[in-house]
Amino acid sequence: MRFDVLTIFPDFLKSPLDEGIIRRAILSKQIEVGVTNIRDFATDKHAMTDDRPFGGGEGMVMKPDPLLAATKKVNPRGAGHVVFLSPQGRQFNQQVATELSEREHLVLICGRYEGVDQRFLDAYVDEEISIGDFILTGGELGAMIIIDAVTRLLPGAVGCADSISNDTFSRGGLKYPQYTRPRVFEGEEVPEVLLSGNHAAIEEWRWLQSMRRTKARRPDLFAALQLTGAEKKLLRAQRIL
Ligand code: SAM
Repeated sequence: MRFDVLTIFPDFLKSPLDEGIIRRAILSKQIEVGVTNIRDFATDKHAMTDDRPFGGGEGMVMKPDPLLAATKKVNPRGAGHVVFLSPQGRQFNQQVATELSEREHLVLICGRYEGVDQRFLDAYVDEEISIGDFILTGGELGAMIIIDAVTRLLPGAVGCADSISNDTFSRGGLKYPQYTRPRVFEGEEVPEVLLSGNHAAIEEWRWLQSMRRTKARRPDLFAALQLTGAEKKLLRAQRIL
C-alpha cells in the first residue's frame, strides 16, 4: 500500500515514520510512504503556499494552485484516494481505518493556517477526515495517525494476527484487562483463572471482562453490540445485561 503525505512541514513526519512497526513495514516494502513538500510546487519567487482570505478575516488560507500541482505529481492518474485532514470531516475510527486499509493508495493532505481554498477541496479531494473534535495546528499528526492505524491492519504488519482481531474495537467492544510478571505486584495477585491453563475458562473470563468494561466505559458501543442468544444468557447470568 502507498501513502503520500502533502505538507509544508515534511520534517514533522520523519521520526514517527522511522520507529517501530511503521519503520519495519517500510523496510519490508509492505508500505511505501512519500512525503512531499507543497512549497516545492509554489510558483512565485517567495514560494508562498498561503495568502489572505478574500472577504477579509483572520489568518491565512492555503492557495489552491501549489496544492493541485503537488497532488497531480503524486497521483498523476487520479487513481489514489485523496483525503484532506480536517476538523470538519468524517470522524476517524477503527471502522474507517479498516475501510482505508483496503485501498492501494492514499493521498493525505495536511492543512495549516485557517484551512484550504474551497475550490481545491471541491474539485480534488475525495473526502475529509477528522481525527477528533479538537483543533490541531496542522494535519500532519492526523496523517500520521491514519498511516499508523491503517498499517497495523495490513496482513503481516503486526507479528501476531490475533493481536489485531482481539484489539479494542475489532470485536465492537473494549479489550479485556491484561497482566504480566510478576505474579504478585504490591500485594495484588493476577486473577486466578489466568494461571489455570484452562483455555476455555480464560476465554470466557476475558470476554466477560471485556463486556463489563465496555458497558461501564462505553455504553454507546455496548448498546450497539450484536450479541447471540447464548451470549446474552451468559451476560444475564453475570448481571452484566
Ligand atoms: N480554521 C479551521 C476550522 O475552524 O475548521 C481550522 C484550521 S486548523 C488550525 C489547520 C489545519 O489543521 C486544518 O486545515 C486541518 O488540516 C488540520 N486539523 C486541525 N484539526 C484537525 C482535526 N481535528 N482533524 C484533522 N485535521 C485537523
